[in-house]
Amino acid sequence: MQKKKFLESSGELKKIKENRDIIIAIGGCMMQEKHITDKLKKSYPFVDIIFGTHTLHKVPEDIYKTIINKEKIKDIIDIDGEVYEGIPVKRTNNRKASVTIMYGCNNFCTYCIVPYVRGRERSRNPENILNEIKELAKEGYKEITLLGQNVNSYNGGNNYKFSNLLKDVDKIEGIEIIRFVSPHPKDFTDDVIESIKTSKKISRLIHVPLQSGSTNVLKAMNRKYTKEQYLNLIDRIKKKIPDAVFSTDIIVGFPGETEEDFEDTLDVVRKVNFEQIYMFIYSRRIGTLADKMENQVSEKIKHKRFDRLKVLFEESIEKNNQKYVGTTQKILVEGYSKNNPEMLTRKN
Ligand code: SF4
Repeated sequence: MQKKKFLESSGELKKIKENRDIIIAIGGCMMQEKHITDKLKKSYPFVDIIFGTHTLHKVPEDIYKTIINKEKIKDIIDIDGEVYEGIPVKRTNNRKASVTIMYGCNNFCTYCIVPYVRGRERSRNPENILNEIKELAKEGYKEITLLGQNVNSYNGGNNYKFSNLLKDVDKIEGIEIIRFVSPHPKDFTDDVIESIKTSKKISRLIHVPLQSGSTNVLKAMNRKYTKEQYLNLIDRIKKKIPDAVFSTDIIVGFPGETEEDFEDTLDVVRKVNFEQIYMFIYSRRIGTLADKMENQVSEKIKHKRFDRLKVLFEESIEKNNQKYVGTTQKILVEGYSKNNPEMLTRKN
């Protein structure tokens, strides 16, 4: 939820609380940011429980204490290295499911708050992950997305890496499509490419976040790869997996991004022919290094560049889609389209 929306709805919750005896608990990674909890405590004193990303498993205990002792609870800790198993997951879809394989991030990209609010990387035990997916398969789930801030630096211990996990998930009967988000280009090693290549279930639409096509901007972002290394990775994947196609994330208007830098991003977009681009206009995030950079790009320029990227992508996707005409592709169909009851569709 965005910060503004979240704070607006906190006011609505106050009205509900005035009329009904309810407990208001607010949690998540935003609560790991001190300026947010300070504001909540000052302006929203009717909130009973504030919990962070590392205390999710303690929510029932916090609720119990609030009921019994009538106390307000702020349950936030800064820890690394803990993984809690067995926390129930509410799934809204009965055919595809996301399974978290690791938490946290060690990368400290300069625009991102995640390493500060979710702590350092820690991976779940492979056995627990595989058992969870086997259970999902028994329940009829067909598509699994392995989730993590940096999935390909997964470390299951005893040299059990992300490539091993992919191979083992691949063997689970009943699961037909496997995806993963988000890998980091710098950790996209040959063994991971090999695991994808040998699998019939791992999606050939591979998400490889670019963020910027300019080596200068990538350096300022602390992404730890250059434009050339990114393009080289795409080539390596394509050579091993000829039917691989790519989606990506791009941030437009990062501090210091010049016209030339932006042209580099457009150049990568032209070269890779992405199937899907998640485009973002850079926005400042308190607590990050990029927020303190003095060379912020004006809103006007950011929006103009964003529009140019969008136009380029729309033109390329039209051409790109031609290659699918007359071919047969495997997709997960989830029901009939709302707009056309005669058309089958995938919901997202
Ligand atoms: S953008 Fe991704 S890799 Fe970079 S710090 Fe944030 S979560 Fe980590």
